[in-house]
Amino acid sequence: MFVTDCKFLENELLDVVRLFKRRPENLTHSFRFEEGVFYNAFTIDGKQFSFEDRGQVCDELIFKRLERRFAKLRLYQILSAEYGEKMPWGALTGIRPTKLAYTEIENGRNFKDLFTQMQVADENIQLVEDILNAQKGIYEKKDGNTDLFVSIPFCPTKCAYCSFITAPIDRTRHFLPDYLNCLDKELAAAQESVGNLRSVYIGGGTPFALSVEELKRVLQAVQPLYEKFNPHVEYTVEAGRPDVFSADKLALLKDFGVTRICINPQSFSDETLQKIGRKHTVADVYKAFEMSKKYGFDINVDLIAGLEDETPEVFEHSVLEAVKTGADNITVHCLSLKSGAKLKEENSYLENNFISYMVASSRQILNQNGYLPYYMYRQKYQVGNNENVGWTKLNKACVYNIDIMEETADNLAVGANAVSKRVFNDKGLITRLASQKDLPTYIANVDEIIKKKREFFI
Ligand code: SF4
Repeated sequence: MFVTDCKFLENELLDVVRLFKRRPENLTHSFRFEEGVFYNAFTIDGKQFSFEDRGQVCDELIFKRLERRFAKLRLYQILSAEYGEKMPWGALTGIRPTKLAYTEIENGRNFKDLFTQMQVADENIQLVEDILNAQKGIYEKKDGNTDLFVSIPFCPTKCAYCSFITAPIDRTRHFLPDYLNCLDKELAAAQESVGNLRSVYIGGGTPFALSVEELKRVLQAVQPLYEKFNPHVEYTVEAGRPDVFSADKLALLKDFGVTRICINPQSFSDETLQKIGRKHTVADVYKAFEMSKKYGFDINVDLIAGLEDETPEVFEHSVLEAVKTGADNITVHCLSLKSGAKLKEENSYLENNFISYMVASSRQILNQNGYLPYYMYRQKYQVGNNENVGWTKLNKACVYNIDIMEETADNLAVGANAVSKRVFNDKGLITRLASQKDLPTYIANVDEIIKKKREFFI
């Protein structure tokens, strides 16, 4: 049973509890603020704890921030001591560590002081510092900066861990002609809304699940935008799964000025690929690389740590193989199970004895091979309470990934389930506009969404 007298802190405190495998049977919390002091009192399975913390409060925003910070930290300290467990990110939950670090720096403080106070592990403080260094020259907080995202929610088959709206294309192909018409309309209308275009990203799903002709329609619709706003834009297509690669599609991308593609094997183990519902083999992954290399694209690769039954050795092998391909970016995701995923477990504490070891060994391998960490994010329900980190070869960082993770630029997102975003840096405000998730509803309402998007980007 969990009771708090402060509604505002309820979810924040529950997030801390969920970090631990062991849970208190009974937890009560009370909070008050008097004369500059934050009082937090906890009773945990009969044991009482109380804390007094001081902080300089100059406005409501800072008050809320400190209220949250002290309550979470104190609860974390109690549970960590009681259960003898330390978390890699200490009491930091629900916030992107790099965003928090930037906020501290903007306010003239050393971010490491806060991270140390929140009991973040030293290696993660170092990771954040390395990421900030790798983002220098790309990270830019300027109103009007815009990234364009085009959603292609079609895949050859559905992966077992996937919670995205996508469905196997065999079942949704009949929507494609109308869907492509909608993208044409949206992209034509988008010309009024683009500011300083920093990148274009056609993502999925699996854009290569489309035929050459269908893909060409999408590229043709995007073309006037980047030609008008930034002919040298970073232009990425998340080609996706190796089972749908073809030389024709790659040549088409080259013709349309695409600069970067993503090949997403997730694992270099045939056994795992089969278990997660992929219809391709590791040999297909190598073939996709071979095919792509002659076009000179920058190549991003995704791996997932914590996939079903994988041992650290199997995962390490995948990281080493990804390095061998010569990929420019390698992102190491830790499995995150959301509703909609076949592998979702009931237990919200996701235990994996190996995951921290896998993350540590991927860091070591990628570091040793000249890759730099350049973006990261954390998700709820992530196996082992770890993080996803994107690694890059020198000067090969993906602008789109940095803008998305740091939330420094508007995102003009078109297609079903696309979430557009406006960033007002001066006000510290971000607003979002989501399109309908399912294909028929999106198609039926596209005129309405175009109208709303126009108003949203004024
Ligand atoms: S390829 Fe990606 S989007 Fe498609 S089903 Fe698999 S995980 Fe989901």
